[in-house]
Amino acid sequence: MTNSIAGALSLVLLAGGATAPRAEDDIRNVRYDVTFDSESAATRTLHIEMSFEVSNRDAVVLSLPSWTPGAYDLGDFAKNIRNVRATQGTVDIRWDKADFDTWRVYPNGRGRVSIAFDYTADELDNAHAWSRPDFVFFNGTNVFFFPEDAGLEFSSEVVFHTESDWRIATGLSSGQAARTYSAADYHELVDMPTFVGRFDVDSAQIGGKWNRLATYPEGRMAGQSRSLLWDQIHRLRPPMEAVTDAVPWEHYTTLLVFEESFGGGSALEHANSHLGIYHPTFLGSPALASITAHEIFHAWNVKRMRPVDLWPYDYGRPMPTELLWVSEGITDYYADLALVRGGIVSAESFYQDTQAKIEQVAAVPPVALEDASLSTWIGPRDGTASVYYPKGSLAGLMLDILIRDASDNARSLDDVMKTVYEGSYGRGRGFTEDQWWAAVREAAGGRSFQDFHDDYVDGRAPYPWEALLPLAGLRLRVDVTRVPRIGITTNGSAEGVRVASVGPGTAAQAAGIQPGDIVVSVAGVEVGNADFGAVFRANFAGATPGSRYELVVERSGQRLTITPELRFDDVRTASIEEDAGASPKAMRIRNGLLTGSTGN
Ligand SMILES: [Zn+2]
Repeated sequence: MTNSIAGALSLVLLAGGATAPRAEDDIRNVRYDVTFDSESAATRTLHIEMSFEVSNRDAVVLSLPSWTPGAYDLGDFAKNIRNVRATQGTVDIRWDKADFDTWRVYPNGRGRVSIAFDYTADELDNAHAWSRPDFVFFNGTNVFFFPEDAGLEFSSEVVFHTESDWRIATGLSSGQAARTYSAADYHELVDMPTFVGRFDVDSAQIGGKWNRLATYPEGRMAGQSRSLLWDQIHRLRPPMEAVTDAVPWEHYTTLLVFEESFGGGSALEHANSHLGIYHPTFLGSPALASITAHEIFHAWNVKRMRPVDLWPYDYGRPMPTELLWVSEGITDYYADLALVRGGIVSAESFYQDTQAKIEQVAAVPPVALEDASLSTWIGPRDGTASVYYPKGSLAGLMLDILIRDASDNARSLDDVMKTVYEGSYGRGRGFTEDQWWAAVREAAGGRSFQDFHDDYVDGRAPYPWEALLPLAGLRLRVDVTRVPRIGITTNGSAEGVRVASVGPGTAAQAAGIQPGDIVVSVAGVEVGNADFGAVFRANFAGATPGSRYELVVERSGQRLTITPELRFDDVRTASIEEDAGASPKAMRIRNGLLTGSTGN
């Protein structure tokens, strides 16, 4: 599992004219001390000390990860490090850098060696570290060195030093002593984001396992918004657990930060926790339930059932995979299913969310799921950077419908997930593309999915909703409505509603309306608020095309009355609805999607 790291290491050592690679058991009793108290919080600093025992004078090569698994971009965590000091006993020892994120420490001989540094915790990003005067969250990938030549299998102890009345919340296992935790190996160590400071925490049992909810700042998620999220977590877990019949963790921790300066909401999954950062408007919102469902399902799909290209995690390089659409898109599909199967949202809302995904995919250039999966590491700027979420989710829905159709609802995508989960994670390895498609074929009674793969996963063909939805007793309904249009866009300004642009070929252009004009009234309706467009459309919905109306504008201090021609645009709105004439088989499939049931 450390092939590429060992290879890089021997180059470093040879170039330095130093010694042969260190034996794996040469670095023992690894311990990390993390200090965060009101004094260090004042300078947004985490103080970290790593210590371990060595048996000889060989240089120890220590690196920081270059990314946090789940956040598929390079993090440059090492740039936040300052005040590095290496000691053995009470004596300072020599250290230098072997790379921009790699340090070399030179022991004096057998004994316990320590390397300490300060880390600036000021990035409000769930793959990074961020602090306030009474709080910090950080990821192990940000601050915990790994010895490059000792493999990643080493166990370690983590000891926290903080104010006596501050709390700690982490997915790490508690040790014997207070504020002491342990990790079985380095992967576990850096997969556990941690809160230290003042925050709210409470817990509940689900299916015999403890679940914790830790939220910052104190008092922010209280009362109804807190009990609502707890209720949603209780409801969405059983449908998720039913997919693999397994709950492969002892406890699960949901870590949430609500912060005004954060635009939107974002969360990052881990094996027995997730860390979400949200604007406070997310409190009590359907979007919070949806993202929470997505991150919890990741504990099965990607943290355990993981593409072979990501197994094991290599912290020193990007790890692109063509299968990210399974890890992200199908997780998104199961989040939607958990919400509807758990009774958190209605079937109608499930159809609307699906339609919204169809429109998100249609709004960007056609891109193959496999290509979009690979490209996430570079963040394409053509609008397709995150399209493997909605498009992968829709591919999951299509596969679910096709498998249920081929088996008369006896089997479903759940069978694929269970087979791949047990055949990969269950055997301690990642899954391959062949394994995935073999499980799909098997669930569908041997039917080939080669064309499906070539057209919809490796290719850029549009998804065939007109043919597919009826198999599940659903249909795409398209409504075309005639909407009266002026042909301008506007924005608010100090003087009033200002024309921002005039559409080419529109009635507004023909009538001489100009960008910069201040709109005073439209057909006698004063333009005092942002609703004037809606009022205009409502008042003229049934009017005769080609008639004239009065539009008063101010231009250079002059008031002008313009009389544009009334024109209409056709606006197409699509929605998914239940087909009242669906066959009994199609109704079984629809019911199977919504409830998770199979059989007929
Ligand atoms: Zn995700």
